[in-house]
Amino acid sequence: MSKIHYEKVTCPDCRRQGEFKVYDSINIDDETRFDRNFKRKIIDSDIFLYSCPSCGSKFYIEYPFLYNDIKNNFMVWCLPDMASEAEIENIKKVDMRTYNGTLRIAIGKFEFIDKLNVFENKLDDLAIESIKTFAFSKVSDEDKKETKSFMFNGINGNTKNLEFVLIKNDESSKLINVPLGFYGEIKSRLKEKEVKGFDIIDQASYYNYIEND
Ligand SMILES: [Zn+2]
Repeated sequence: MSKIHYEKVTCPDCRRQGEFKVYDSINIDDETRFDRNFKRKIIDSDIFLYSCPSCGSKFYIEYPFLYNDIKNNFMVWCLPDMASEAEIENIKKVDMRTYNGTLRIAIGKFEFIDKLNVFENKLDDLAIESIKTFAFSKVSDEDKKETKSFMFNGINGNTKNLEFVLIKNDESSKLINVPLGFYGEIKSRLKEKEVKGFDIIDQASYYNYIEND
């Protein structure tokens, strides 16, 4: 079951109050049963859109939520881009020893989607981050300067490539392909340390969980 509560919201346009549904946690299996487009609604931020019942003004309300995928055995805390260090530390402190799946914290929408693409494909995000470093090295200097996000896009069913997508500041994007065979090679070579509890695994941090030879 997802956990929800309602919050009173004052419309910035007409100053009238309304109620906004807030998801503290999302059980994606349950939600998809009722609405098969629910994941799309998270990714497109539809569930964060408030529409004022009095004047019809619409605005986004971003907040942290816990995404729970029971079928694929992972949970991701998705925090807004401006999440504070204290907020992140509080989540890391939660004792999750009784949970035997993968636990991550994602900052911002792109990192969140990246994690879904990794774990829904039953891949290891440390290996993906390692390959990402390699894939990003193939990007031109010009594109590097314009990069807003570089995320894992999944496995292309036709070409059997790992797809990475570079999102530029102007929101245009470019695909970078890496042969799927590369994944097995990297994965078998990586000596990984255990990630305990919720943590951020991204380009800046993944190396902390890899043992050096
Ligand atoms: Zn209003």
